[in-house]
Amino acid sequence: MRENRMSGLTRGSNSVKCGWVALYSTGDRRPFHGYHKPLSVVVVNSYIRCFKSPAILKKVLKNMKLQTCAKTDIGLRRKINEDLFFVDENQGLFIVADGMGGHAAGEIASQIAVETACESLQAATGGSPEKRLKQAIESANRAVQQAAAGNRAWRGMGTTLTIFLLQQQHGYLAHIGDSRIYRLHNSYFEQLSDDHSLAGEQIARGILTPKQAESSLLGNILLQAIGITPQLDICQKSIPLSAGDRFLLCSDGLTNMVSDPEIEKTLKQSGSPSPLCETLIEKAITAGGKDNVTAIVLQVD
Ligand code: CA
Repeated sequence: MRENRMSGLTRGSNSVKCGWVALYSTGDRRPFHGYHKPLSVVVVNSYIRCFKSPAILKKVLKNMKLQTCAKTDIGLRRKINEDLFFVDENQGLFIVADGMGGHAAGEIASQIAVETACESLQAATGGSPEKRLKQAIESANRAVQQAAAGNRAWRGMGTTLTIFLLQQQHGYLAHIGDSRIYRLHNSYFEQLSDDHSLAGEQIARGILTPKQAESSLLGNILLQAIGITPQLDICQKSIPLSAGDRFLLCSDGLTNMVSDPEIEKTLKQSGSPSPLCETLIEKAITAGGKDNVTAIVLQVD
């Protein structure tokens, strides 16, 4: 197992190094699998984290407040959780990665991608958010490719990578793969990220309707993935933030199990991100839980 450079953690334990915390809980049907920073609200062996923005993020967002909740679940069919989420309120940084590959390599791919992207964003001192995010995704891509080249068991591993960075009243999206980010703005629900899948491409070209794509047998084939695609065509967007906006970052373990109208209905419910996040995960499990499922819900007020 590759050493966790951020936290020096092994599975089933928690410890702290360099201010990062990763939580894993083994022996639980639904292990926690995510990073959370800072340390103040960490609870060991819990698989759901809910928090309000600390002082630093309030400065980043000026007069806005942020509440978020992040959760991942192994689901009912998989033996390991290859999804990974990352939340850092101080940077206003939120990431979902969904790894793929045999021999647990998907788990390695998502970890390398998330860590490398975070390190790249922290190391970048200048440039626009768009440029820093592009560099972070490209760094992650190189890192996963290099790791795979150095270990036969990891050959062919890859991951989706969806990054949302809050800066100066804007949300900056950078994304590869078929994880998704949605926005609920003034009751208008929309998917912000493109799907880099065969189905996504066929919908974009008008070959399939979204409804037809749901039953497409090859629709889930990824056309771009971190660690797999040499030259990435990164989906990047800048979204102005408004009070009342809700955002959802999620893996396809949610979107393959729960329809967009159902996700929209849930996000429109009143309440804090915590019950909404819980409800989304539970809907995916109730619908069959065929895959690992991960959701981060953000609310701007
Ligand atoms: Ca998945």
